[in-house]
Parts: sequence; C-alpha cells; structure tokens
Amino acid sequence: MISVVVPIYNEEVLILQFHEAITNALEETNEDWEVVYVNDGSRDSSLEILRNLQSSDPHVVVVELSRNWGHMGAISAGLQTARGDATVIMDGDFQDPPEVVPELVEAWKAGAEVVVAVRRSRQERRKLLAKLFPLFYRLLGALSDFPIPLDAGIFGLMNRQAVDSINGMRERNRYLPGLRAWVGYSNAVVFYDRQDRAGGDGKLSFMSRIKYAMDAITSFSYKPLRLCFLLASMSTFAAALLAVSTIFSRNPFHTAGFGVAAAIFFVGSMLLLCLGVMGEYLGRVYDEVRGRPLSIINRVYSQSEMLPVQADSNYEEMKPAGGFGVHVA
Ligand code: UDP
Ligand code: MG
Repeated sequence: MISVVVPIYNEEVLILQFHEAITNALEETNEDWEVVYVNDGSRDSSLEILRNLQSSDPHVVVVELSRNWGHMGAISAGLQTARGDATVIMDGDFQDPPEVVPELVEAWKAGAEVVVAVRRSRQERRKLLAKLFPLFYRLLGALSDFPIPLDAGIFGLMNRQAVDSINGMRERNRYLPGLRAWVGYSNAVVFYDRQDRAGGDGKLSFMSRIKYAMDAITSFSYKPLRLCFLLASMSTFAAALLAVSTIFSRNPFHTAGFGVAAAIFFVGSMLLLCLGVMGEYLGRVYDEVRGRPLSIINRVYSQSEMLPVQADSNYEEMKPAGGFGVHVA
C-alpha cells in the first residue's frame, strides 16, 4: 500500500480539488493507497471538509492534532500514522504536483528505497522567497558536514524501513530533507517543476522559515561554532595591530582613544556574535533535553482499525494522557 501524508492548515479552498487530483494520480499506480490528511489546528472549515471526505471515502485517514504545531509537527504525526509500504510526503497546495506521485512510485517499484523529488524549476509569486530558497540550499550545502541534496524539500517517497528510521529518531528540531538523506538507503531522484500555490495564501510565516533554516544548519553543521574561532583570531590580530600602532604613533588622535574605542567595539561585537551562535545551539540542546513531542495527536479518524505502526517510536509519547483516541467511523 502507498500512503500519502499531507499537512493541512487552513486549506478549505483547496482540499476537495487536491483530493480529486491525488485520487486520480494514485489510481494510476494500480496499488492500494491511503491519504493521511493531518489537520494542523486549522481555524477554518478544513477539519469538517476532511471529515466529510473521510466518511465517504475509505482511502482517507484524518489525523486531528491538538492545536497548530507547524509544518514539521504535522508531517511527523502523519508519518507516525501512515501504514503504507511506501509513504509519500507532500504539501496540500499543489506546489508539489500530484501528477508527479506516480513517478515517485515507479522509482520505488524499480528498487529505490528513498525517492527524492528535486526542483528543476520553481514558480513562485513571492519573488523574494524565490530568490532566497536557492541561496539557502547553497549555503546549507556549503556548511553541512553531511551531503544533502540541493533544491529538495519535503516532497518525496520513503519505504517502510526509511519511515520507521525517521519515526524512531528522537530529534526535535527536524530538517526532514536532511534527515531523509542522513538515514541512508538506496536513493533515486525524480525531477519536477515546482508550481505556484493553487489558491489561498502561504501559511508559513517568515520567522518560522528562518527557524527552519537555522534548524537545518545547526542540525547538520558545527561550522558556525567554528566560525567563532576564526573571528576570535581575527579580532586578536586586529587588536595587536592597533596596540602596536598606538605605541609607535605620534598622532594625537590615537591618544584621544579612538583606536581603543574602535577595538572595544570590535571585540564586543565579535563576542556577542559568538554568544548568539552558541545560543542557537544551546537553545536546541535545551529542546532536545526537554524531549517534548513534535506534536500531539488528538484523534485519528479512519474507516479501518488503526494500530500504532511501531512501539519504540515517538508515537507512544504523542499519545495524550487520556489515551490515543482512534475513532473508527
Ligand atoms: N501547513 C501546516 N501547518 C502550518 C503551516 C502550514 O500544516 O502551521 C501546511 C499547509 O497547509 C500546506 C503545507 O503545510 O499544505 C505547506 O505550507 P505553505 O504552502 O504555506 O508553505 P510554503 O509552500 O509557502 O513554504
Ligand atoms: Mg506551499
């Protein structure tokens, strides 16, 4: 069976259209399939629309989260719930085109254990973002201690083992394209043209993107920390030069302390910068130590009995205190 995990946050205008498109795409594969829609605390009628879909279509599973947890929290909950031999992850706004899904499935059937969908081109109304994305991927590529495919987002397919490997990870600050590369297995690449959003507005805030970008860099690289050493040696060198030039200079401005002031500012800002870099890592260490789940599932709606896929994962932790509410409808 093929599972498709789709995070949904306030997508009422697109859900039905998306479901029709993904249904057509999955029928093409001649495999059994399910679509796991994760309602990430939508404030519009998305949940009602999804529940109606679920009661009329046995292929639909709806995961209701306890609140809005963000893109990665929603995807993690979907991955914990998906039962397929292969699981596709994609956004529900047509940016990851449903018609590419059969190609991912073909590559899996041909033997790949992980299929990465790589953006050949990108349609994006938001011009600044369109410029920033490729830059980010290049920066990550340069910094990362581990090779991560360029221009690949969450869109792709993983077989059962790869999904279980990711589910079993304790990591809280997740950068999925990186983890998907990190778990290994035989990889294949399918190129696609990323579309513009089919309707509604983008749901991710600029700050959440920055956080995600920082997650990506900090979870795959120590280089920013090493940068502190570089900056420290540069500022030591500059300070030494200033000291020498002040001692030997007859220029009265030097004694007026300009040089000293400049040196203090310079060293101070380098120190603050390094503290900031360390803070980024330290905050994440704190997150990991607290071990809070990435998201909490409130209920799962499905026409068939849903059982936890595996016991040793975060799934256990994701259960609310009152037990895991599976509603068989
Ligand atoms: N999404 C989500 N929770 C959020 C924000 C977004 O589940 O807090 C979903 C959203 O419904 C969409 C996908 O994640 O299916 C990607 O969001 P969006 O299209 O806004 O991101 P972008 O494509 O702009 O990066
Ligand atoms: Mg989108």
